[in-house]
Amino acid sequence: MKKKILSIFLAAMLLLGLSACKTQQKESSSQIYAMDTIMRLTAYGSKGEEAIEAASELIMRLEHLWSVTDEGSDIWAINEAAGQWVSVTPETIDLLTNALVLAEETQGALDPSIYPVVRAWGFTTGDYRVPTQQELTALLERVDHSAIEVDAEGKRVRIPDGTKIDVGAIAKGAAGRMAAQLMVDLGVKSALLDLGGNIQPVGVKPDGSAWRVGVQIPNYEGTAYLAAVESTGRAVVTSGGYQRYFEMGGVRYIHIIDPTTGYPAESGLDSVTVVGEDGGLCDALSTAIFVMGEERGVQLWRDRGDFDLLLIRADGSILVTEGLEQSVMLADGYGDTKIDIAR
Ligand code: AMP
Ligand code: MG
Repeated sequence: MKKKILSIFLAAMLLLGLSACKTQQKESSSQIYAMDTIMRLTAYGSKGEEAIEAASELIMRLEHLWSVTDEGSDIWAINEAAGQWVSVTPETIDLLTNALVLAEETQGALDPSIYPVVRAWGFTTGDYRVPTQQELTALLERVDHSAIEVDAEGKRVRIPDGTKIDVGAIAKGAAGRMAAQLMVDLGVKSALLDLGGNIQPVGVKPDGSAWRVGVQIPNYEGTAYLAAVESTGRAVVTSGGYQRYFEMGGVRYIHIIDPTTGYPAESGLDSVTVVGEDGGLCDALSTAIFVMGEERGVQLWRDRGDFDLLLIRADGSILVTEGLEQSVMLADGYGDTKIDIAR
């Protein structure tokens, strides 16, 4: 009899324990510095710690493949090959294949071969300067995404001698997507990967509710939020001039370059947030739509239908595409911000 009571007691304890696990899962987190930014990885559940370790390793490996300044990287090898074919990893083949499709689709607003122009402005070195028109005109002659050849079967890439590429506009999103997939493969059901403003969730929060991702007020001294977007697994990626810029002679020069002019993009937008299943696509599109502006960006949204947009215009007003209508909320104190909905 005593034994029976004990086993009922034990079973009850076990049940209690299990339900406690369900609502209060173990949280693991880690911070790494990669791809020029601080990344914060958080995962829930018993597999979280191991998955974060694996995801960190993956991100570091991708950084070594995709860095434009790291002499061992695939991108470095392509840039230094003086017009010859270069064998690269399957990850780089995928990255560049996707980039070229989007370069085509955005009529070159996204162009990995913009690198010499980005460098001339000092954005890779920190030696900021305003290049002359003559210099920019000469550099722009080398900017042409259609000259990048990707041989997917042979796993090799070739660019003309003098052309240089950089994947800074697309690498973090692709890394986030791959890290999230790795976590899913390792059994993680709930995680939030913050790759320096590229937010890549896995599933929903441990309590079953949506993640809330803040959208920053552009051009703000410090960090403050204008709105939040709810996500149940979709990536939320923002591009904005405020993320990297320098000032000279009272003028602000931002790091996103319009490949048609060689000058920092001026499309009337202060930030572009793209929300979608594919974090790699979101990263590429946030940069491209920042260059393209509202009209062309919304047109692309209509044409593709696989992402949503939150645009902050230079006048402070917001445009969201209808898929976000129910999941955007304004931050306290900004409730009277004008929001237009694109349908
Ligand atoms: P993101 O923060 O994703 O918008 O990417 C911006 C980074 O991409 C810049 O710091 C540059 O390294 C690079 N970049 C700037 N303009 C372009 C462009 N039009 N196409 C592709 N890459 C660009
Ligand atoms: Mg981008």
